[in-house]
Amino acid sequence: MFCRFHPDREAHIHCQKMGYYYCQECLDNCQACTDPCAYCKFRQGCVIWELCRKEAKRRCQEQRQAKNC
Ligand SMILES: [Zn+2]
Repeated sequence: MFCRFHPDREAHIHCQKMGYYYCQECLDNCQACTDPCAYCKFRQGCVIWELCRKEAKRRCQEQRQAKNC
């Protein structure tokens, strides 16, 4: 499988919820969780969430604030 954002790169991470694959760089940049606000039943065992929890929560808050404007 190849990365969702980098089709030329081999993927290392799989988002079980969205069914997408991501490369290491996408994981490092926390681009692998595209919908951090939405409920995810895989989150407890999700490597992406484990590594990007802080960034994902921050983005989620930004999204919510933008909607309130
Ligand atoms: Zn990538």
